[in-house]
Amino acid sequence: MKIPLSSPDISQAERDAVAEVMLTSQLSLGPRLPEFERLLSEYVGVRYAVAVNSGTSALHLCIRAMGIGPGDEVITTSFSFIATANCILMEGARPVFVDIDPETWNIDPAKIEAAITPRARAILPVHVFGLPPDMDAILAIARKHNLRVLEDSCEALGATYKGRRAGSLCDAGVFGFYPNKQITTGEGGMIVTNDETIYRLATSMRNQGRGVNSGWLAHERLGYNFRLSDINCALGIAQMKRIDEILAHRAQVAKWYHERLGDEKRISLQRVPSDRTISHFVMVARLSDDYTREDRDCIMEGLRAKEIGTNNYFSPIHLQPFYAEQGWKRGDLPVCEALSDRTIALPFHGLLTEQEVDTVCREFRALLSRPYRA
Ligand SMILES: *Cc1c(COP(=O)(O)O)cnc(C)c1O
Repeated sequence: MKIPLSSPDISQAERDAVAEVMLTSQLSLGPRLPEFERLLSEYVGVRYAVAVNSGTSALHLCIRAMGIGPGDEVITTSFSFIATANCILMEGARPVFVDIDPETWNIDPAKIEAAITPRARAILPVHVFGLPPDMDAILAIARKHNLRVLEDSCEALGATYKGRRAGSLCDAGVFGFYPNKQITTGEGGMIVTNDETIYRLATSMRNQGRGVNSGWLAHERLGYNFRLSDINCALGIAQMKRIDEILAHRAQVAKWYHERLGDEKRISLQRVPSDRTISHFVMVARLSDDYTREDRDCIMEGLRAKEIGTNNYFSPIHLQPFYAEQGWKRGDLPVCEALSDRTIALPFHGLLTEQEVDTVCREFRALLSRPYRA
């Protein structure tokens, strides 16, 4: 692709930081692990951070730390990355999908209460494409029904809701550092929380169930290896030191897109309510209802033919083959399905130039006018 869908934003400082670890003998569980955790907890504004080897592992450990297991239900959204729901299934619990708001694309709080059964244990809202959901409404429902709340803020590092950062808004939040995220560690993830029990359990379970202060061969509970190496942490530290600059570049690229596509009647963009800020993760356009899923797929093919990266974020979780086998079907979540059929992700990362955004928008608009519409 001449213009790739995404790209990490890596400077010489990151390359130097990784090279420096290689000169030490502490490639894991060294000093860079607590330093990376401290940078994250301070940035997000919470007491504790626990680094792990992926965002998926972070979600999984939170579900375990909350004691969610067989027979339990977790209310979440189907308009997300598969890990949001897989972490629930991995612990033998059941995801209960609630439909989304057609404009913010986040879970619709008005539809949550109808989905709560006596087996419900938690709500797992997602900050879709870096936009926080309506957390006050979600927390009010959670309090009323005595449910835990875990925010999947993997796509939202730096976003705010009523002045507070994503990840700090409920019992625990999680981030992912795959190379398409705002910051990357190659692979990696982080749990952020003010809850000491979640912090203690996650720290122990990421490291084979060792107690936080116990010996190497003392295993207090069932754990696993979800550790993040100091090589990854060095990369993460260097990225966090540039976080304001990285997010500013992404915001500038988003602004260029909005200037060129904001008045385009054949598409709509995600609505950002005035009480929150988005941390731009991707640039997704929703085609109007005049277009079908087949039209959308043709437009994506057209972009790829021009060497412009694109994808159909998100394909609903409940319609993935493994979920469909368990009984979920088309028609269950009409708002989510109508959106998913019409989304197109355009190239988005902090290194794009204004000229590249120009090219993408020109080609995209040209494709919108092709025979797809009568
Ligand atoms: C990236 C992401 C994750 C975690 O992904 P990993 O690849 O495991 O780091 C989880 N949820 C959402 C919504 C994501 O976008």
